[in-house]
Amino acid sequence: METKTIFKRIIDREIPADIVYEDDRCLAFRDIQPQAPVHILVIPKKEIPSVNEVSESDENLVGHLFVVIAKLAEQLGLKSGYRVVVNCGPEAGQSVMHLHLHLLAGRRLNWPPG
Ligand code: AMP
Repeated sequence: METKTIFKRIIDREIPADIVYEDDRCLAFRDIQPQAPVHILVIPKKEIPSVNEVSESDENLVGHLFVVIAKLAEQLGLKSGYRVVVNCGPEAGQSVMHLHLHLLAGRRLNWPPG
């Protein structure tokens, strides 16, 4: 039996999410365990497990995710800065195998990250 990821279930509206943006190619919703005052996940509707599986045919789609990040940053007035994070693989802490960009803002973000 095919097992859907939690994000695919959000895309298919099988479980609720606090959706802040949607178009034909992607969805953005608030992280259920926010690590900053603003913590939004931007995901492609196409099921790509991680950065490792991004192919040349996805170049336009991945670029679109960043266009959406820029739009959200403008709409949310993130003038003092924000961070975009993509965890890839277990050592980086990826817990959902559906490509997602974290948009974090609203507090001082330290560098280097943990
Ligand atoms: P990562 O650890 O990079 O794979 O990030 C996965 C993120 O998904 C974590 O920050 C989780 O808090 C978040 N998350 C997991 N389930 C949900 C959900 N149902 N709705 C919103 N965010 C979720």
